[in-house]
Amino acid sequence: MSNNNKEIRSDFDEYLVPCYAPMQVVPEKALGSKVWDYDGKEYIDFAGGIAVSCLGHCHPVMLDALEKQAKKVWHLSNVMTNKPAIDLAKRLTELTFADKVFFANSGAEANEAALKLARRVAIEKYSESKNEIISFKKGFHGRTFFTVTVGGQPVYSDGFGPKPGAITHLPYNDIEAFEKHINENTCAVMIEPIQGEGGIVPIEKPFLHRLAALCKKHDAVLIFDEVQTGVGRTGTLYAYESLDIIPDILTTAKSLGGGFPIAAMLTNNELAEHMKVGTHGSTYGGNPLASAVGLAVLNEVTSGSLMEDIITKEKLFKKLLNNMNQTLNVFDEIRGKGLLLGASLNQQWKGRARDILTEASRHGLLILIAGPDVIRFTPSLLVSEQEIKEGLKKLELSIKKLTL
Ligand SMILES: *Cc1c(COP(=O)(O)O)cnc(C)c1O
Repeated sequence: MSNNNKEIRSDFDEYLVPCYAPMQVVPEKALGSKVWDYDGKEYIDFAGGIAVSCLGHCHPVMLDALEKQAKKVWHLSNVMTNKPAIDLAKRLTELTFADKVFFANSGAEANEAALKLARRVAIEKYSESKNEIISFKKGFHGRTFFTVTVGGQPVYSDGFGPKPGAITHLPYNDIEAFEKHINENTCAVMIEPIQGEGGIVPIEKPFLHRLAALCKKHDAVLIFDEVQTGVGRTGTLYAYESLDIIPDILTTAKSLGGGFPIAAMLTNNELAEHMKVGTHGSTYGGNPLASAVGLAVLNEVTSGSLMEDIITKEKLFKKLLNNMNQTLNVFDEIRGKGLLLGASLNQQWKGRARDILTEASRHGLLILIAGPDVIRFTPSLLVSEQEIKEGLKKLELSIKKLTL
């Protein structure tokens, strides 16, 4: 049996469908913001499983919820309901604008549900021709054929034959383009409050407010994709709270399960009633194990000073990145909110985000990229100030190494 990084990683190439290019590092175990690979090397984790491990790895609250539920019942399907799912739905409606919740297993599935609901509402309430969806260039909404087509990176949706239709991609934060395009046949607008995969690009508030007003005027449903920004990531439970906008539909996944797959589509009563028995469904959606973990995560994230501390950590990250940049001169912008942060590489370093990620792993630091020119940080919301300092020191050393 293989039991070191190199052998295990080469088995990946042997046995897995080659649609990923994972790092050479193969983690064996993890705790909090630390990860250890099969060679026994320790890492500080600023990747957090792509904004998923919001309480870090193996948090006791998650372990406890998982173990307790595992001894009761794991799975029922939706021919029967289960209390953990109802408890989680109730909690989500208490904490947000929503009246009703639909559970799924991934961000893409939650978005798929949101888009289908928006189309159904428009067709039932208005007309068959009200079916156009507006979304944004560089946006990312998942990999099902519908969601990836709504996403704004054609390289991900090209090459699979005919695409779902009536979808238009407009430039993000460009109100003129939006104003010109929206019309009475627009049924939905899907948008990320911070474009995550697209490079950590925050939405501009005046753009969003005008966009929301135009959605109202044209009876188009406003869908907030908070799959990456949700569950405390930006310092409020959901990013819409700090933007003073209430969406009609919100999707949440990633951090919702803290590492256990679960997703949800949140909406109001008026829209929810268009989802009748049989309109949509999922075998696993609202699975008792996932829901029990989700509720534990949600309760932990909303307890104590966890969310206030995120802003302190954001400030520390930004300060240290700016300091580092004074001497190294690699970034042209440091942006994002809470613990969803991006450092975009300047002209001289363009295209080298992957090199920095690889060098950082050699120095014992796990980071992410968002495209070829942006370093992305999505650590545990519980990452300590000490870990932030240590991790960014490692980043600095890695970049220094690359300048040699
Ligand atoms: C990750 C992501 C998705 C897709 O989530 P999956 O769980 O991979 O299906 C959708 N939207 C946004 C904004 C994301 O960041």
